Amino acid sequence: MNAQRVVADLRELAALTSTPDGAQRLAWGPVWRQSREWLKGKIDELGLRIEPDSAGNNWVTLPGASAKTVIVGSHLDSVPNGGWLDGALGMMAALEAIRMHTATTPPVTLKLVDWADEEGARFGRSLLGSAAASGELTAESVRELTDRQGVKLVDALAENGVVLERMTDAHAELKKIDARAYLELHIEQGPVLESLQKPTGVVLGTFGVARHMLRFVGQAAHSGSTPIPMRRDAFLAAAQTALACREIALRHSRPDKPGGNVVCTVGVVNVEPKIVTAVPGICEMSLDQRALEAEVLAQMLADAREAADRAARDNKVSVEWREIWRIEPRPFDATLVRLCEEAVREETGDTTRLPSGPLHDAAEMVPHMPVVMMFAYSSNGLSHCKEEDTPVPHLETSIRAYLRLVEKTIRHVAQAEVQGSGF
Ligand SMILES: [Zn+2]
Repeated sequence: MNAQRVVADLRELAALTSTPDGAQRLAWGPVWRQSREWLKGKIDELGLRIEPDSAGNNWVTLPGASAKTVIVGSHLDSVPNGGWLDGALGMMAALEAIRMHTATTPPVTLKLVDWADEEGARFGRSLLGSAAASGELTAESVRELTDRQGVKLVDALAENGVVLERMTDAHAELKKIDARAYLELHIEQGPVLESLQKPTGVVLGTFGVARHMLRFVGQAAHSGSTPIPMRRDAFLAAAQTALACREIALRHSRPDKPGGNVVCTVGVVNVEPKIVTAVPGICEMSLDQRALEAEVLAQMLADAREAADRAARDNKVSVEWREIWRIEPRPFDATLVRLCEEAVREETGDTTRLPSGPLHDAAEMVPHMPVVMMFAYSSNGLSHCKEEDTPVPHLETSIRAYLRLVEKTIRHVAQAEVQGSGF
């Protein structure tokens, strides 16, 4: 019953906010506002109200017997021509979790949150609202952002009643909540659950990322006149490093261990002078390494540096590293992971555990409260496109498992209250 109602809500939202090209709930725009207005209608029906924080995240509170709070939520915004489930699934499942408790006073307080601008699709800053709430955002870092039409972020925010300079107040507002758990259901957006034929799985945490640009410098030379042993070919050094990094990732992967697989990607390669008859004197390449465990990520990076030095020596070139971005792995709370495993097992007979490659609002909450996420099967691993889908039976299984998780968490937090221990 409950899961069917969630799917019906998802279809209603999709019908209201999609074109034949997909979902159009771009953050801070009119269709997104419409989706929030629609959600407000659902909340009104429950006799509750929406309260925005300073960053434009929308909150709904269902007071319980205790101020200890379990937070459920996700995001309503989508990329342009997006799918019907990314963010929306978590929102509708969270709405249902609240709905299930409106008849009586729950033992703990429940809050629903709709994070603003998770996607960063318009201004390029993902997790904007949740980063403001977690204290990770600075106004300076986003003040100059504009969209493709030249609209400034600060003006788009103002259209939605959000003042850029006050967005970071959302952090103090979050800290006032006696938050004991944050629970988010999301589509996997990848092929792992599908490959295992599992409708739903437990997320262990989000990958840490080490992202660098490597610059190899040798000597450009004529391709006809320079014998191979006398060359200082910057591209070959980069290529050798890229192949070595692939081996490093395979070596550090533990396919037998949940979340044990690590990845690395060379996504950008530029050579100079970029002439078919010239040995490349300069080669720049990106290296993006990801792992769930901080020590593993650090070792992968150390190994890559060693490999790059070796490749540079072999090709008589130099190499310099520049860090572009890094984020530490954000492992989820062990107790909540266990409750999530129970919920998935009760619904499906066993439990699949996997890490999240993409970042989510949930990752922003990790330093502030116990967090866990649950993933639902993604057909063909596709997301951020109109083909994004989950077969309805799998969708309903994941929703039921999530609602079980919410119940288990409420009981656990309430119990901890009685015993005066736990979270
Ligand atoms: Zn999402």
